[in-house]
Order: sequence, then structure tokens, then C-alpha cells
Amino acid sequence: MSGSIVLFGPPGAGKGTQAGRIVDLTGKPQVSTGDMLRTAVKAGTKMGAEAKVYMDAGLLVPDSVIIGLIEERLTQSDAVNGVLFDGFPRTIPQAESLANIAVVESVISIEVPDDAIVERIVGRRMDPETGDIYHITFNPAPSEIESRLIQRKDDTEETVRARLEAYHTQTAPLATWYSERGLLISIDGNQPIDQVGDAVEDAVRTTMSV
Ligand code: AMP
Repeated sequence: MSGSIVLFGPPGAGKGTQAGRIVDLTGKPQVSTGDMLRTAVKAGTKMGAEAKVYMDAGLLVPDSVIIGLIEERLTQSDAVNGVLFDGFPRTIPQAESLANIAVVESVISIEVPDDAIVERIVGRRMDPETGDIYHITFNPAPSEIESRLIQRKDDTEETVRARLEAYHTQTAPLATWYSERGLLISIDGNQPIDQVGDAVEDAVRTTMSV
């Protein structure tokens, strides 16, 4: 079982939340380009400063930057048995580059309608200490950690609309691309978190023989 898994879907579909279950099930490390970019922004690197302009506007960071990040990440020893990609690839050129450097065995697409996404993202909060993700209404954090939760800078309604636009024009065509290659499994992401998680787990078990 040395292939990689791609978690696919619009922003706010619950990819980050569900990634934990797949990591527990498969032992594959989670590789989130969004997290890697946010780390670079925080660290104040030149690449981070460039990426931040796109991220704050809800636009995709250029493919060359993303592909460079992934190429470097895949050279690390924990990636030898495949990884779980979260938020990558997001364009067809990214998927083509990935196909040259890794074997993708399964693409799990979590589908959620746009109107539900806006409600989800604007209420989303993150625990900066653990990276755990909560929602003020749908998945409230324990009261003892509530005061330290933060909202991502790009989780405002205006930016979410721009991110959805980028998703529909640049990322959604990838669903067809992966479907044509027999790799796409679609899951209804517009149901309670645990039910989505069960469906995600089933999809992983079916396609990855875990
Ligand atoms: P995410 O946390 O996955 O929602 O990513 C946050 C932001 O980082 C996105 O809105 C993009 O600006 C940027 N980003 C993350 N992953 C990618 C990617 N694979 N391609 C281009 N931009 C990305």
C-alpha cells in the first residue's frame, strides 16, 4: 500500500477535518499545501510573502510555487509509502506534475453546495496549538480552549466567494480528469461530520485495501 490519496473538494468541504481519520487509518502523513503556505507566511520567507498576496485575495498561488513545495516535501523519508494530499492538486497542471512524481491510488471528493460552504467557512475556528478545526455552531470547541481559537484571515465571506470562484473555474475540472482515470470517489459532504467520516473511511478501505 504505497500509493497516495488525494482529498478533493471545495474550500470548507471538511477536507482538513476528515484528513485526521485517514491518517489514523492508513498511517500516511497529511500533506496540506494550505498549511505549508501558512507556515511559510508565518516564518516570513520570501515565498510566504509572495503567496500571502494570493491567499488573502482568495486566489490560487501559482502552480510553479506549489509544485516546488510538493516536490521538496515528497523527498522526506515519511513520504516513501505515500501521503494524504489535502488541498492539492488544485489545477490540471498540478495534477499532471503530481502524476510524474507519485502514484495516486484514490481521489476522495467531498461534495458540498456553495450556500452551505459560506455558512461553514465563516463560522470556522482553529485551535492554534493543535491545528484542530471547530465551528461555532456545528462543531463547538470545548469551553476551556474557546478563548484561544482563531479565525483564518481568508475565512471572511468576501474571500470565501473568491475562493469558490477559483474552485469552480480552476479546480472543479479536475474531478472529470480523475474520474476519466478511474480514481474518483464522490461523497456527500453535506451531512453530519461523523457520517461524512464513515463514508470517507469506507472509500479508503475499498480503494486502498486497509
Ligand atoms: P486551503 O487551506 O487549502 O484552503 O488553502 C488556503 C489558500 O492557500 C488557498 O485559498 C490558496 O490561495 C492557497 N493554496 C493552497 N493550496 C493550493 C494549491 N494546491 N494551489 C494553489 N493555491 C493553493
